[in-house]
Parts: sequence; C-alpha cells; structure tokens
Amino acid sequence: MFSKDIGIDLGTANVLIHQKGKGIVLNEPSVVALDSKTRKVLAVGEEARLMLGRTPGNIVAIRPLRDGVIADFDVTEAMLTHFINKLNLKGFMSSPNVLICCPTKITSVEQKAIRDAAQRAGGKKVFLEEEAKVAAIGAGMDIFQPSGNMVIDIGGGTTDVAVLSMGDIVTSESVKAAGNAFDQDILAYIKKQYKLLIGERTAEDIKIQVGTVYADGRNESLEVRGRDLVTGLPRPVTITSQEIEQALRETIGVVVQAAKNVLEKTPPELSADIIDRGVIVTGGGALLHGIEQLLMEELKVPVFVAENPLDSVANGTAVMLENIDRLSDL
Ligand code: ADP
Ligand code: MG
Repeated sequence: MFSKDIGIDLGTANVLIHQKGKGIVLNEPSVVALDSKTRKVLAVGEEARLMLGRTPGNIVAIRPLRDGVIADFDVTEAMLTHFINKLNLKGFMSSPNVLICCPTKITSVEQKAIRDAAQRAGGKKVFLEEEAKVAAIGAGMDIFQPSGNMVIDIGGGTTDVAVLSMGDIVTSESVKAAGNAFDQDILAYIKKQYKLLIGERTAEDIKIQVGTVYADGRNESLEVRGRDLVTGLPRPVTITSQEIEQALRETIGVVVQAAKNVLEKTPPELSADIIDRGVIVTGGGALLHGIEQLLMEELKVPVFVAENPLDSVANGTAVMLENIDRLSDL
C-alpha cells in the first residue's frame, strides 16, 4: 500500500519533517508569534522567527519548547498542527504513520497530547521516539548490534548524551547547556565587558561567525551593534574569537562534564567499544568551531561530527520508518 509516512524532529530550535520517498520536506524554526491578549496564533516558523525581539507590545514571538521542556503546551500543539497541516496529509489515499522525536524530558501527559495532535492532523499510527537514539541512527551508527555507541546531541535547549546498545539507551544524561545557553553567555559577556546590550539573534550570529570553544583555534573578529547601557544610544563594538572562547568556557564545560559522567556510568565492555568506534556529535551545536578537538582532548576517545548534524534526527526518522514493524506503540 502506498504510504507517505513522516518523521518529525520536534526540536527546541528547529522542526524538521522527513517524508518517506521525498526527503526533508519542512525545516523551520520552532517559533510562534501570538497576539499577547487573545493568544491567537499570528505566524509560525521562519515568519515568526523574524519577529523575535522585534515585536510591538501586542504581539509576542516565543519558542514554546525552549529549554527542552514544553514551556507552553497549547502553543507547541498549535505549532505542530500547523506544520503537519502544511503537508496536506488528509488529501492522501491512505493516512501516513507518524514518528515524532521530542525532548526526552516531557511528561506522559504532554506525550499523549503530542500524539493526539498528530492524529488529529491526519496521522494514522503515531510513534514517539527518544531524540538521542534517532540522532545516532541518522548519523549512521548501527545501534542495533550488541556493541556500545555514544552520541552527543547539542541542540538549542539541551545537550543529550547517550550510550546505546542493541537499539536502546544504556546510560544517558541531559543538560541545559546548549545553543541557547551559548547565545546567552555571549550576550552576558558583551553586556558586562562593553556595557552594551545586544539581541539574541546577534549573539547567535557572533557564535557562528567568530565563536570557538577551542583556545587559539580560531582568529576572527566581527563588528556588531547594540544599545549602549549608559547613553541608551546605538554603538558598534568589535568582538574576537578569543573573547567568545572565554565567554563559552563555562557552559561548554557543562557539556564536557555530562559526557564524562555518561562514560563513567557505562559498563566496561561498552566503553571499550566506544574507544574503538568513537563518539558522534549531532545537532546544530556540533557545528560550533573547535568542538571536535575539545571533546577529543577532554574525553580521550575519537570524536566525529555527523555529516549534516542539523539533519541527523530527521534522517534517523527515515531509517526508523523503514523498519516501522520493529517500532512498538509507546
Ligand atoms: P534542536 O534540536 O534543539 O531544535 P538544533 O539541533 O536544530 O536544535 O540546533 C540548533 C542550535 O544550533 C541553535 O542554538 C543554533 O544557534 C546552533 N547552530 C546552528 N548552526 C551553528 C553553527 N554553525 N555554529 C554553532 N552553532 C550553530
Ligand atoms: Mg534536536
């Protein structure tokens, strides 16, 4: 039977949808713009992201999944429904199965609500899966064998570290040190150092364009604008890679520590496998300059960044949907 099963990476920063036979058909930021009084949804995804930090008083633009927990459930549901409806699933001959990867820390009530929302939007069977597991699969690991595989998924709200064997998570840890926290660190650094207030999107630009987590690993600078805290007027400053390396040191330390904790809790046979196979880094944070070198030095195991780390989970859903018989209704 012809079916267009879909896999959804419901991330804290980005939502990606993979459709069987088509590839990634949707890739949008997890942002929703609302009327602050009526709570009516005004825009979703990229359109809403452009409004972040730029809205007049009657509109708010929010990231409903921000810290890896569902901060605002109704809005998350509206967002999910909006994205699925964009695919027009209801017009198909047979309704598709839907596999959703959502943050590990959501409650069972929230899981049920996500499942219901997907069903209402036209899903036949709805499966929920753990993100770290699907990211590992999407990054090309064969996690179904009886050997240890380690993945570090650095997303927007959380970093999830997991060791997998025989298709399941053996040990794991989730910390709130990830992309958003890096941006906040940069914002705080510039505020303290230059008495200058910059926006979150500017902080993210700095992170991507000049940032590094490896001391002396990068040598670039960028002029950015912000609002002078004393005069209240716009003012430019030039930020260097060295400064950002310092600003990110503490938060990246939390990521490193989480990985060390997981390694410590890992049974020795599996640790031996990880020394052979190495660790794979996925999620947008895997693109942080210097991450590979830093983790390699700290963990003393080989470290590889996944090929398209932002797409790992979405690509992993594709592999899982091929093996849909093996998935159980959770
Ligand atoms: P989530 O799964 O939580 O939605 P993603 O895996 O999509 O998160 O990653 C989003 C995060 O990756 C954001 O914080 C973004 O700033 C960060 N990111 C994206 N590209 C880069 C880059 N080139 N360098 C550093 N960080 C990046
Ligand atoms: Mg993710």
